[in-house]
Amino acid sequence: MTLAHQFHPTVLREYDIRGIIGKTVNADDARAIGRGFGTQVVRQGGTKVAIGYDGRHSSPELEQAVVEGLKSTGLHVVRIGLGPTPMLYFTVRHLKLDAGLMITGSHNPPDYNGFKMMMGKAPVYGAQIQEIGTIAAAGDFASGEGSEETIDIQDAYVERLLLDYDGVRDLNVVWDNGNGAAGEILRRLVARLPGKHTLLFDEIDGDFPNHHPDPTIPENLEDIIHKVKELGADLGIAFDGDADRIGAVDEKGRIVWGDQLVAIYAKDVLRSHPGATIIADVKASQTLFDHVAKCGGTPLMWKTGHSLLKAKMAETNSPLAGEMSGHIFFADKYYGFDDAPYCGVRLIGLVSREGTLSALRDELPDVLNTPEVRFQVSEERKFASVEEIKARVKEAAAASGDEVNDIDGVRVKTKDGWWLLRASNTQDVLVARAEAYSAEGLKRLTSAIKAELTASGIAAPADF
Ligand SMILES: [Zn+2]
Repeated sequence: MTLAHQFHPTVLREYDIRGIIGKTVNADDARAIGRGFGTQVVRQGGTKVAIGYDGRHSSPELEQAVVEGLKSTGLHVVRIGLGPTPMLYFTVRHLKLDAGLMITGSHNPPDYNGFKMMMGKAPVYGAQIQEIGTIAAAGDFASGEGSEETIDIQDAYVERLLLDYDGVRDLNVVWDNGNGAAGEILRRLVARLPGKHTLLFDEIDGDFPNHHPDPTIPENLEDIIHKVKELGADLGIAFDGDADRIGAVDEKGRIVWGDQLVAIYAKDVLRSHPGATIIADVKASQTLFDHVAKCGGTPLMWKTGHSLLKAKMAETNSPLAGEMSGHIFFADKYYGFDDAPYCGVRLIGLVSREGTLSALRDELPDVLNTPEVRFQVSEERKFASVEEIKARVKEAAAASGDEVNDIDGVRVKTKDGWWLLRASNTQDVLVARAEAYSAEGLKRLTSAIKAELTASGIAAPADF
């Protein structure tokens, strides 16, 4: 009998393995992922791996199958059960295990599910994920006599979250769990945090009956904004479905975006790490990078993708990094992974010491920006078109004095602000964004984007 296994061609992605349950991913795939990933762990000399799962209906069955696969490679499997993704990361670090695997569909619709992996302290991505497919296709699995245990890590995790609470006065806080995987952790956390806490949608429910658990979409924050205003609360904190991303709302009910949060945290972190490198992705506002410099830090713009940010953080010894998307990483006092409950504790402490979240937010100048706009492009033309645009823009910049950053796609800084065009790692689209100091400036920037797309034969949507 051969154990060779072929995955659906769409599921092995850049940063995770993900698909639609019963259509592109099922329990057989999960077993093969357990075998393939287990094989990688064994071949790197590992012996122990943690596994956790989110609140989706399909998660327990997938977890069971992955456990079987992992054990068949000879590993000892530590099962932590239902909880947020950062609790799985915490388990691996706290118990000094060799690897971890989380079953989660993150913020995706209820019929999706997926697998996020870490090897040692680092996320598994890119070629390592593709290798799982190669190992499975060849049936080239390690085999051995595995074992398992089930542990309750929740109290140890909550204890660790509380350790870095440094507030000086009690605040009134609203939390929106969006029926995601962090519900139980959140209840235990707020029971021990000082202040008044109101929880929205803390019941874990894989149908997400109230709103979609993605705090980067403004309509998903309407409930928490309403509650913050109704209660006159100091701030609101929202999670995505597996609580590795955070969203926030100030006491006036305004959304504080991921890059603004990084800027706010940076000022605080730089007090104890003067001159440190603070990293954010190419989609982040220029106001963040300027704020970091103003606060005495060294801003570094890096590629979009949480695995890539984490790797750069380790390389530059950076205490803080983050993305527009709300993945924020604290290495200051913490492990350097993206943990939204931890970010929430740090935000409450910070606001408690500093005054109000709106005042912290208003230290950043107001700018106008576009949302992320996506342009459909064929897989063949995706990267080639960005290369063409890069070449043209660099030539033009030599004359105009504009600054071009090509770390991930092309980001052009002009006197009006900046614009970005980059190829998505996960979809056949080019992603554009622009940010300006005035409405006329924003128009000039979006016109520049359109001109470049047209020159490369890509159609822009009518409303752009
Ligand atoms: Zn997530």
